[in-house]
Amino acid sequence: MTTTPTLAVWKFTSCDGCQLTLLDCEDELLALAGQIRIAHFTEASSAAEPGPYDVSLVEGSVTTPEELRRITEIREQSRILVAIGACATHGGIQALRNFADTAEFTSAVYASPEYIDTLATSTPISDHVPVDYELRGCPIDRRQLLDTLCAFLAGRAPDIPNTSVCTECKRRGTTCVTVAEGIPCLGPVTQAGCGALCPAYHRGCFGCFGPMAEPNIHALLPILRVNGMSVDDVDRVFATYAAAAPEFAEPRRDQP
Ligand code: SF4
Ligand code: SF4
Ligand code: SF4
Repeated sequence: MTTTPTLAVWKFTSCDGCQLTLLDCEDELLALAGQIRIAHFTEASSAAEPGPYDVSLVEGSVTTPEELRRITEIREQSRILVAIGACATHGGIQALRNFADTAEFTSAVYASPEYIDTLATSTPISDHVPVDYELRGCPIDRRQLLDTLCAFLAGRAPDIPNTSVCTECKRRGTTCVTVAEGIPCLGPVTQAGCGALCPAYHRGCFGCFGPMAEPNIHALLPILRVNGMSVDDVDRVFATYAAAAPEFAEPRRDQP
């Protein structure tokens, strides 16, 4: 007897944008629905089945003691665990707290900060439990998400590149905005997977997919400066989506 594999979707500290990417796959979801059963997805339905689950998609970073406990439970209940989005893979925008005083933030933002139960850091899922695959981006790319689910159903590994966004510009025939017009672009050090979305719309990449494998950031820094970014601009752009990634955090400090 065969049973339909189950999918669970979990939210940690995040904006829900990556979960919405799954809902945005409307037509494809209908096709997938016959092959995979969505057993837990509170963004879409209050009906929730107990685990174990064949695949868990985990959105968001770990920022509270309760999330620390919950991620361990989810890992135990999941055969395959996929971290989705910059929050889950790099701590997200909220990882800026890792370099500041969290108590100062909470007292500035909340009228009664004593009710806030939070950790001093925002950390990726892989800091706490083993993760089978990571989908980058803020938000994730819907084609990568669908390929990952199809790969699971086909019994193969998903196609997750570790090259730079530049390789995707070349593949889709996009003129390089840096070479042609001097627009600052983090594509040479950012992991591919979005299809070079921003350069295709005449914008520089701002690094939402996080660092590629072995990025040569020292070679890129002077080019960003020549193309008009100040030291502060460079610092800010590397600190936005993957502030907690050591590859993006350390070279910034070496700027002249
Ligand atoms: S990665 Fe971006 S879109 Fe996804 S949950 Fe985090 S902030 Fe939202
Ligand atoms: S536009 Fe950016 S990502 Fe594309 S080739 Fe040029 S530097 Fe690389
Ligand atoms: S080009 Fe860069 S900033 Fe734009 S979606 Fe891709 S990785 Fe993100």
